[in-house]
Amino acid sequence: MDRKVAENMKGRTGEIKFLFPEGKDKALTFSYDDAQIYDRRLVSIFNQHNMKATFHLNSGTLDREGFITTAEVKELYVNHEVACHAVSHPFFNQLSKMQMIAEIYEDRRALERCLGKIVRGMSYPFGEYNEQMIQTAVNLGIVYSRTVESTMNFSLPADFMKWHPTCHHSGVTDTMIEDFLNAPNYRNLSLFYIWGHSYEFEENHNWEQISGICERLQGKEDVWYATNIEIYEYVTAMRSIVVSADEDLIYNPTAVTLYLRIDNRTIILPPGAVQSITE
Ligand SMILES: [Zn+2]
Repeated sequence: MDRKVAENMKGRTGEIKFLFPEGKDKALTFSYDDAQIYDRRLVSIFNQHNMKATFHLNSGTLDREGFITTAEVKELYVNHEVACHAVSHPFFNQLSKMQMIAEIYEDRRALERCLGKIVRGMSYPFGEYNEQMIQTAVNLGIVYSRTVESTMNFSLPADFMKWHPTCHHSGVTDTMIEDFLNAPNYRNLSLFYIWGHSYEFEENHNWEQISGICERLQGKEDVWYATNIEIYEYVTAMRSIVVSADEDLIYNPTAVTLYLRIDNRTIILPPGAVQSITE
């Protein structure tokens, strides 16, 4: 909904704000690229702490020495999301349009066959992207793609095809974790988005870093632990809400259950529901 509608609604009904699923105010997600064998250890750490993550795979490097095998993809990442990272980890700024199409389409197709699931997410290899490549990806059914540009904040992405993370895992500090956990719940929705590669923990001998991050962020009542695509789906649904001209009715035209707070009331808006917000 746009700001004017939000302001008018505020004048009529008091404060209205969106919440994440189950009425939570915060969300945490992780994104790890390249599918080297160290993903096995990383997945087990995430599972141990009930974290949700997205793993971006290059279908062309699966089964090579040092990489995850095609046979293990489905089971290894079962609690998480598998998403594209292009077939061969190319520099997107150095590809022809046809090469771009093949890199994305063939990656998506291979991963979907592997998983028996629809794959719609992506991250840009080397963080490289341009407008033609975004258009190509969108035309091939990709709905979000992560960059490597840190925002150093907890805001929601303005454009999911340029989804800037909060920071790389090496940039996570105690202060950031405190700021996230202590962010006042009555303000904005907060999203903490951490990315990296599992091989970095192996190379730098600092697996305790990611375990420490998980330990400090796990099990919080007001945090939604979600994969990238779950956040994309929820936020997109939230942005699709329909408001009546009198701004007294809201309609959820999506397939997602939405949570809102109006004054001090939490409103659960199931798929297809119309709700009065004036009482
Ligand atoms: Zn990569």
